[in-house]
Amino acid sequence: MDLHVLVLPGDGIGTEVTREAVRVLRHVAAKWNHKLSLTEGLLGGVAIHRTGTPFPEETAKLAAEADATLMGAVGLPEFDNAPPEQRPEKGLLKIRQALGVYANLRPVRAYKSQLDSSPLKNHLVEGTDMIIVRELTGGIYYGIPRGITGTGADMRAVNTMTYTRAEIERVTRMAFHLAKTRRKKVTSVDKSNVLENSQLWRKVVVEVAIDYPDVALDHLLVDNCAMQLVLNPRRFDIVLTENMFGDILSDEGAVLAGSIGMLPSASIGDRRPSGAWVGLYEPVHGSAPDIAGQNKANPLGAIGSVAAMLEYSFGLKEEASAVESAIEHALASGHVTADLRPSGAPATTEQVGESVCVAIS
Ligand code: NAD
Repeated sequence: MDLHVLVLPGDGIGTEVTREAVRVLRHVAAKWNHKLSLTEGLLGGVAIHRTGTPFPEETAKLAAEADATLMGAVGLPEFDNAPPEQRPEKGLLKIRQALGVYANLRPVRAYKSQLDSSPLKNHLVEGTDMIIVRELTGGIYYGIPRGITGTGADMRAVNTMTYTRAEIERVTRMAFHLAKTRRKKVTSVDKSNVLENSQLWRKVVVEVAIDYPDVALDHLLVDNCAMQLVLNPRRFDIVLTENMFGDILSDEGAVLAGSIGMLPSASIGDRRPSGAWVGLYEPVHGSAPDIAGQNKANPLGAIGSVAAMLEYSFGLKEEASAVESAIEHALASGHVTADLRPSGAPATTEQVGESVCVAIS
């Protein structure tokens, strides 16, 4: 198969973890005889430095041409006080929008060897295996009107939470489609006791569910869901929710698994004429300026994103599960990065990437 992938390492540890993710991708392509064409582009702080903008036109063009995009992380402390349009993070919002990736998938899995790094008691977290499906291109982060007006005591800020039926329907179908390949359960999360927006969300989800009679559907209010995630995370299979609720809940999900450095994510849009699904794959974590440049970052979130890319964009399930098993193997070996609190000397970013490759072959 031809795998045409754009690589956007970004800033800070983004460059370090992406290097290891690419090492694993090359390894998989060589082992299974896939033709890999990789291009590299600029996004985030590095793009501002070189071109003056966090999402240069050239990057937009490269992303439109590639079948899938593998991203590291963006963000540099020197831009912390810059206006929103000139911050590296704006590049993220823009590329998601440009690619039309409307569903963000975040798997949360408690690996047996890592139960002790979870803040929850082992018996609560053991067996956790869910995917949080977050709507990514609508809702309050994009709705207009927005902004701050007035001065002094009359200052006023407004944001708008808005969804169309079509926006809710397409992400709901993706969630049900995924559920069919797993434990066949969708939990839709909203705030329909207070928000009209959530009332439409729930109505559309219920209507779509009729087309998937073999998948069970239940609903939770977002505040209750935040509680259930720590009380009983095993109850969840697919968690489906809108943009802002998903942003918050998926970070809560992130800590269940131990370290944020472990978590991959996939953002999926429609199918390309080539048959590949448009996808943007990235670890959940940021650019971690505190450990950047020290070969300390955990690359498993980025490597897990490669597994997600192989599965969701290219349908290469065997290759994807080989990467997943190799991650599990690397974790079980105990030679892991410092964030996972190894008993001996911590492994470097590079060593973890190498050991995943060795476990695949
Ligand atoms: P962060 O995820 O970068 O770091 C939070 C903490 O987790 C830090 O202590 C860091 O050392 C640790 N950490 C993160 N990833 C790790 C890994 N792979 N291995 C080991 N430890 C890891 O979040 P932050 O500090 O809030 O943000 C730093 C910058 O990243 C900011 O500019 C922020 O805007 C940006 N950011 C970018 C993204 C993205 O690109 N998707 C996401 C979140 C934050």
